[in-house]
Amino acid sequence: MIKTTKLTKSFGEKEVLKGIDEEIKDGEVVVVIGPSGSGKSTFLRCLNLLEIPTSGEVLFNNQIINKKGVNIDEIRTKMGMVFQNFNLFPHLTVLENITIGPIQIKKTSQEEAKKIATDLLQSMGLLDKADAYPNSLSGGQKQRIAIARALAMQPEMMLFDEPTSALDPEMVGEVLQVMRNLAVNGMTMVVVTHEMGFAREVGDRILFMDEGVIVEKGTPKQIFDQPQNERTKNFLSKVL
Ligand code: ADP
Ligand code: MG
Repeated sequence: MIKTTKLTKSFGEKEVLKGIDEEIKDGEVVVVIGPSGSGKSTFLRCLNLLEIPTSGEVLFNNQIINKKGVNIDEIRTKMGMVFQNFNLFPHLTVLENITIGPIQIKKTSQEEAKKIATDLLQSMGLLDKADAYPNSLSGGQKQRIAIARALAMQPEMMLFDEPTSALDPEMVGEVLQVMRNLAVNGMTMVVVTHEMGFAREVGDRILFMDEGVIVEKGTPKQIFDQPQNERTKNFLSKVL
């Protein structure tokens, strides 16, 4: 579904991604782990061109998307993104937060957008919050709404950048549960997280990043039970 070849990204003199070759298949759940500053967010943001790669290619469904003439906005609608800090619109209700994308960007009718949003809220147990404003919600509720908002665009894949890192511990579980359900239902997902339990249980593959490269990758069993690289071992010894 998405593939990168020799992907690099520099900010000024600093090369943050140093040639990433990776491929994420339809229906796969790939979890990206690694120390702070290793380039995880930058990698994720290059996949949907929130950051423009310095060199190399990003292919989405076999089409190079980081080249002139590609409609980035259209491609982005196919990749839902969820951030650490929710980024909900504070002046819109929960329902409006979820319907605004489909209505404004996909030209979905009000009625249809409302139906999609209502179904999503129902599936997350948040239907009673449809008319609430984000500020009245808990962090866990806000993040589930943010996921619903991304899903309302009916994306082909979902990118998650530390979706539970800003949450109080007691709210982490409800967000991971929504993500687990998505995974079970076949959504293609790339998830940056420090939740190693989730990574092991839900991930099809783990990528360990350090200093702008994918140092080691494999199944959760391979990475967590038999890491080969010293840097992977060292990182895991600190977080497990
Ligand atoms: P991670 O998500 O693994 O913590 P990031 O991808 O956020 O790492 O950052 C990798 C490196 O790139 C860090 O050193 C960070 O300071 C730098 N960086 C990230 N975004 C920018 C930016 N917009 N401008 C300058 N430097 C950046
Ligand atoms: Mg990050």
